[in-house]
Amino acid sequence: MKNKSINQKNIFVSEEEKTLDWPTLQSDLKKNFGEEIYSSWLKSITLVKEYNDYLILGVPTRFFRDWIVSRYLDKILELVKNHKLSLSRIEFKIVEEQKAVNGENFKIEELSKITEIKDSILNYNRLNTNLSFENFIKGSSNEVALSYSKKVCEQSSRYNPLYIYGGVGLGKTHLLNAIGLELQKDKDVMFISAERFMYHFIKSIKKNDMVNFKDFFRKASVFIIDDVQFIRGKESLQEEFFHTFNSLMEKGSQIVISADRPPMKLDRVQERIKSRLSGGLIIDIDVPDLQLKKDIIKNRIDYMQNQFKEHINISDEVINFISTEAKTNIRELLGVLNRVIAFGRVHKRILNASDCKNILKDVFNQAKIITVDKIQNTVSNFFNITLTDMLSQRRSRPLARPRQVAMYLAKKLTTRSLPEIGRRFANRDHTTVIHAVKTITKLSEKDEEMKKNLIQIKSLLLEN
Ligand code: ADP
Ligand code: MG
Repeated sequence: MKNKSINQKNIFVSEEEKTLDWPTLQSDLKKNFGEEIYSSWLKSITLVKEYNDYLILGVPTRFFRDWIVSRYLDKILELVKNHKLSLSRIEFKIVEEQKAVNGENFKIEELSKITEIKDSILNYNRLNTNLSFENFIKGSSNEVALSYSKKVCEQSSRYNPLYIYGGVGLGKTHLLNAIGLELQKDKDVMFISAERFMYHFIKSIKKNDMVNFKDFFRKASVFIIDDVQFIRGKESLQEEFFHTFNSLMEKGSQIVISADRPPMKLDRVQERIKSRLSGGLIIDIDVPDLQLKKDIIKNRIDYMQNQFKEHINISDEVINFISTEAKTNIRELLGVLNRVIAFGRVHKRILNASDCKNILKDVFNQAKIITVDKIQNTVSNFFNITLTDMLSQRRSRPLARPRQVAMYLAKKLTTRSLPEIGRRFANRDHTTVIHAVKTITKLSEKDEEMKKNLIQIKSLLLEN
C-alpha cells in the first residue's frame, strides 16, 4: 500500500504546533476519572512521543492497552484536546518494562517507522490484523453479515455496495477490517472511517489541495468506509462523497460501508446519497444472544491464554454471569471480562459470581444511569426530528410515535414516576404517559420495525 502515494506530503501538512504539558494532563485525568481508576489504570501511562496531531502513549502491557482503549479512550482524547486542539488520534505502544526502568521507554526502530508515515493518510488506512474473519465468532445475530462479508471477498463487485449496519460494539468495524485484510492480498484497499474522510476533506480544502484528495480516494479498487452516519451535514462534503462514490462504482471498485442505521434512516444526508447507498445489499447485525456472548468470552480467554502463556481460570458460573449482565455491546462485554481477569490475577484466586458482582458494580450500574433528557435527545436524534417538535403538542404520527417511544423508554429505563415523566414532556398528564407505554409495548411485540428501533435506541443509550 505504501508506494501508492501521490504526493501525500502536500495533502496533509501539519498544523500549528502546540505541545502538551504531561503532568497537567495527568492531574486532569485524575480529576476526571477519580482516584481509583486513575491509580489502577491511567497512572501508568507515559508520554512516548508527541506529533502535531497525534500522540503515542506508552502502557505496560497489551492488557492495559485493551482495557484503556475500550473504556477510557474517548474521554482521554477529549481531555487531551483541551490542551492540544489539533489532536486527532492517540496511539498506544506497549512499553517493555526493562526499557521503562532505563528511562528509555520506546524502541527506536519502532519510532522511525512511525515517523515515516507520520502525517500521511496511510496512518489511518492501516488494518488491524487482529480483526480477521478467523477471530470473528459466528452467532445467530451476525451470521448473515459474516457470510456476505466473506462472499464479497470471493466475488468482488457482485454485492455492491455492501452495507452493514447495527448498534454500537456489535462487530461492524471488525467485519469491515476482516474484509480489508482478506482483499488487500491482491487489491488496492482503502479503509477509512467517515470521520477521517471528513477530516481529510476539510484539511484539503484548507490547503487548497482538492486535486490530490480526489485522486487519492478514487484510485482504490476496494473502498471500505466505516461509520458512514458521520458524513451528515456539510453539503460540499456530501457532494464530494457522492462523486467519489460514483466514480468508484463506475470503475467497478468494491465498496463496503458500515453505519449505525439503515441508509434511509441516515440523518441529514442527501436523498440521492441514501439511495446510492441502498443500491446494493443491506444487512444488519443484531444484538448478540446469550450463546454468542458466551462463545466470544470463551474464545477470548483462549486467545489470552495463548498470548500471555498463562492459565486463566474462569468458571462457567462467572462466564454465565458476565454474559447475562453485559447487555448488548460486545466491546463492553470484552471490557468486563478483562476486568474480571485482572482481579483474578491480582488476588490470585478463582472468582465466583458474587465476587464479579462486586467487581463490576460500577460498570453495570453506570450503564443504568440513563436520564429522561438523554432519552429525549437520543430518540429525537434517532427519528431525525427536533427535540422541540418531539415535545410539542402536535399530533402527527411522525412526531407522536417518537414522543411515545421516548415516554416508554423513560418509564422502562429510569426510576421516574409517571407524573414526573409527564411533566418532563411539556407538562403532559400521567395518563398520556400510560397510554404511550401501552401503545409502544403492544407495538414492540408485533411490529418488527418497532422492535428493531427499540433495540437500536437502547444500544445508543447504553453506549456512554
Ligand atoms: P462496532 O464497529 O460495531 O461498534 P466493533 O467491530 O468495534 O463494533 O466490535 C467491538 C469489539 O467486539 C471489538 O473488539 C471486536 O473485535 C469485538 N467483536 C464484535 N463482534 C465479535 C465477534 N462476533 N467475534 C469476536 N469479537 C467480536
Ligand atoms: Mg465501529
